[in-house]
Amino acid sequence: MPPQRLRAIQKALMTWYRIHQRDLPWRRTRSAYRIWVSEVMLQQTQVETVIPYYRRFIRRFPSLSALASSDLEAVLKVWEGLGYYSRARHLLEASQIIARDYRGRIPRDLQVFLRLPGVGDYIGAAVLSIAFQKPYAAVDGNVKRVLSRLQAIDLPMNASASSRVFKHAAQALLDRDAPGISNQAFMEFGALQCIPRNPLCNCCPLRRLCKAYQSNTVKRLPNRGSRRTVPTRHVAVGVVYNRDRVLITRRAPRGLLGGLWEFPGGAIGADESARAACLREIREETGLSVTVGDHLATVRHAYTHFKVVIDVFRCAYQGGTVHLSGPVDFRWVSIAELDQFAFPSANKKFMHLLIRR
Ligand code: SF4
Repeated sequence: MPPQRLRAIQKALMTWYRIHQRDLPWRRTRSAYRIWVSEVMLQQTQVETVIPYYRRFIRRFPSLSALASSDLEAVLKVWEGLGYYSRARHLLEASQIIARDYRGRIPRDLQVFLRLPGVGDYIGAAVLSIAFQKPYAAVDGNVKRVLSRLQAIDLPMNASASSRVFKHAAQALLDRDAPGISNQAFMEFGALQCIPRNPLCNCCPLRRLCKAYQSNTVKRLPNRGSRRTVPTRHVAVGVVYNRDRVLITRRAPRGLLGGLWEFPGGAIGADESARAACLREIREETGLSVTVGDHLATVRHAYTHFKVVIDVFRCAYQGGTVHLSGPVDFRWVSIAELDQFAFPSANKKFMHLLIRR
């Protein structure tokens, strides 16, 4: 890239950022730990959603050592509702490794930092540049969109084959005198100015430098690739009552929704009714004999790669002792005690019905 163009883009972005940056809680700290927490939460999640979670998390775990001496149960409870729960588990595991092996100090060497659970290219570059001014470009969805338009990169944004090109373009544009601010300026510019639909080109300071604007291709870029069809899974779930207590089970710590609590149930088979699936799943997962009663609700929830439709039934315990197959723990709890456990959002969508009852 011609040095003149490079300097003009950097200057325009930095000036824009100084004027337009939002006052966000993680921009008021120099703590690498807090910056790291914010970047982990911000992956796949909107800023407005993250703010209350970040504040709660930092109140509960104000330092890396406070987090490292905690446990998954407590961390998931604070993370409850934010989604992508493996982020929370990885953050906890990484903090424990840092406390044990690095005397509580976050490694400043990228290769060392990247070895920690949950630290990939984006987190590594974002945290080390913002906290320690290391010259690594952080490339998230916002940055890719800006680069696509600014440099007219017509490659599928989310294809792994394109990532090297975006990384290279971002690294070339990074202001090495202030890499942390430079990265934040790019991301903020994508979030506020060069937005996915109807970017604010008319008042954009990069208009003259933007190849998409100059070639009238803003509407075509970024290239979003082919859209995947998202499958829908049908699931039956039972709230098993034994007098005034209900049964909850805990998912294995790894995998989707790892470590969270839920009501027993599972996928409805082909040619199987939701009631029959509920009865079968509870027997298979817990070994209990139950009767399936009222249909309490049908709830829908969307994950990244699939959607789920859940039929929820009120069930009555009939006999047997719990022998788990799949879940790793269980409790019989009162409805009032449910609030002490971390549940997936899909379960939260019907739990208020139990409380009302
Ligand atoms: S001119 Fe439009 S498309 Fe180009 S960088 Fe500015 S907002 Fe984005």
